[in-house]
Amino acid sequence: MIAPGRLAELQAREEARFRAEHPRSCELAGRAREHLLAGVPMHWMAKWPGGFPLFVREASGSRFVDVDGREYVDFCLGDTGGMSGHAPAPTLRAIDEQARRGITTMLPGEDALWVGEELARRFRLPKWQFALTATDANRFSIRLARHVSGRPYVLVFNWCYHGTVDETFATLAGGVVGPRRGNLGPPVNPAETTRVVEFNDVEALERELAHGDVALVLTEPALTNIGIVHPEPGFHDALRELTRASGTLLAIDETHTICCGPGGYTAAHGLEPDILTIGKPIAGGVPAAAYGFSAELAERVGAAIELEDVDVGGVGGTLAGNALSLAAMRATLGEVLTEEAFARMIPLAERWTSGVEAGIAEAGLPWHVTRLGCRAEYLFGPDRPRSGSEAHAAGDFALERYMHLHALNRGILLTPFHNMALMSPATTEADVDLHTAVFHDAVIELAAG
Ligand code: PMP
Repeated sequence: MIAPGRLAELQAREEARFRAEHPRSCELAGRAREHLLAGVPMHWMAKWPGGFPLFVREASGSRFVDVDGREYVDFCLGDTGGMSGHAPAPTLRAIDEQARRGITTMLPGEDALWVGEELARRFRLPKWQFALTATDANRFSIRLARHVSGRPYVLVFNWCYHGTVDETFATLAGGVVGPRRGNLGPPVNPAETTRVVEFNDVEALERELAHGDVALVLTEPALTNIGIVHPEPGFHDALRELTRASGTLLAIDETHTICCGPGGYTAAHGLEPDILTIGKPIAGGVPAAAYGFSAELAERVGAAIELEDVDVGGVGGTLAGNALSLAAMRATLGEVLTEEAFARMIPLAERWTSGVEAGIAEAGLPWHVTRLGCRAEYLFGPDRPRSGSEAHAAGDFALERYMHLHALNRGILLTPFHNMALMSPATTEADVDLHTAVFHDAVIELAAG
């Protein structure tokens, strides 16, 4: 147990150390406040612990160096956008060669065919489209599902995250759907667009799908954005049966769960979605996303769209499918995020998990650690959550910020807004062992107070 007042005392010590050791980041953060909203190029970056964000000089492989010359092991990896490791050589080569031959033309090139074939092989869905972000891949999937089904609702699981997609910012409280806390300017109350049930709650899923008005269930195969929540045995079978029985499309978002292997959780567990979406790491950090369709759905989509209207249908975008993204995807999928890479990355996450488990046990804290492929995370509760709500209840913002800052001050970056670590093909056992040692010191000191 952590004694009252202990956390605040340690937090003050770590903040002072952070400020003293990062004078250049501090100076840049001060300047940034003049012309960047909240002093950052993207609002979320204001949430990093320490009073101001680190400014990065360069990143390579599993590490980055800040503007004060300090080096870090990066387990955040751009919250999965850098899961390939930073600046992987094959992707860099492809970017360089393609950039010299033209970045965007609104015409297809041969790389699109290679990538489509590779995605079909990995995820077992035959037809693909491209977008720039996973958010867009999800938004476009929702639109197409509504269009072909003529149904108004989307169903998501409580505390899901699928990007900045209006329909998904809905939470369930006391059985009532409403806007998620912090949702800025929702166009309508999401209760008008979205049905929400708890992950692993088959009964509620059946009840909500029985309305017959849900176009699409959109879910990660295991939740990764509210801590890791694993599906219980039989959950995916029930989800597939119930969606088929109610004429509802099933979209699986593999943006994070690609950590389970080259074909994500879907290939690893034989799932059969109608749509699969993925973004973030598939082009080595270059903006790129993809969404794939079953043969049957592809046919329905084709039949439901007028050629004359394809450019104003609310799906796609000028830069989607651009030559640079596709060249980067080809190199990253073909040479970086390969079968062999996952065979190295997953044991590293097992090693990270064992290290954290040992630290928790020695400190006697009521926490636990869980792993999904090459991703792992600790939660501030004793038991594995069954649902997003249970995982949310184990959250502790102040404690999380402290653990992040403590790690950062000792050369380790964790994924923000979680206690999550991701392994890249460039991550080493020494990187993992550094985390184990730092985590051990953090929890022993916390518990000692
Ligand atoms: N889907 C999932 C499962 C995600 O975790 C995220 C981002 N964390 C997204 C989609 C959205 O990705 P992006 O912000 O790159 O559009």
